[in-house]
Amino acid sequence: MFVFIVITGIALLFTGMAIMRYQGRLELMATSDSLTGMPNRQAFDVVVGTYLNDARRNQEPLSMLMMDIDHFKSINDLHGHLAGDQVLIAVAACLRANLREVDFICRWGGEEFLILLKNCDAEDALQVSEKLRLAIETLVVEYKKELLQVTASFGVSQWRPEELVDALIERADTVLFQAKYIGRNRSLVA
Ligand code: GH3
Ligand code: MG
Ligand code: MG
Repeated sequence: MFVFIVITGIALLFTGMAIMRYQGRLELMATSDSLTGMPNRQAFDVVVGTYLNDARRNQEPLSMLMMDIDHFKSINDLHGHLAGDQVLIAVAACLRANLREVDFICRWGGEEFLILLKNCDAEDALQVSEKLRLAIETLVVEYKKELLQVTASFGVSQWRPEELVDALIERADTVLFQAKYIGRNRSLVA
């Protein structure tokens, strides 16, 4: 009887551990983008509240960058979709490498990335944006012996106290659109 209870207990323990591991993997899959390994939009929804609360509580600025790769469709058209994938992976890594650990970055959609810059006002955020823009401009991605290069445009918005997240995103989006319109490969502040 005792042996039976011990064996059942051990079996239950292992099953529980396997379920927890599986759940952890599912959570990770639900919140990260499978191509670049970056957090995705769902992750942003979970995280953004904490960033806003911190900014409110500590009375510190918070800024957002909305970034979109320029003429990305032509990379796919000229070099193939797999080449485009490699560019996305390299751009994501380049952004991450040029940001602080406390900054949040996610793949917002196809060739768009959204970044939250902790304790940064619009002026600081523009500087970060320009640093990222130059890093991307000089990035060279090798794919099947071809050297691929892209540029990107950025929209910058600083969070206004009590502003809703959607409004902050919309302001970044609007200036990103303007940056595209006036020639791309530039950063504009809302
Ligand atoms: P713009 O400068 O105006 O942003 O031009 P664009 O070509 O970058 O923008 P457009 O919206 O016309 O095209 C975006 C392209 O990004 C089209 C789509 O096929 C491609 N794309 C989106 N997601 C992926 C992906 O995961 N992999 C690859 N290879 N391409 C992708
Ligand atoms: Mg786009
Ligand atoms: Mg684009």
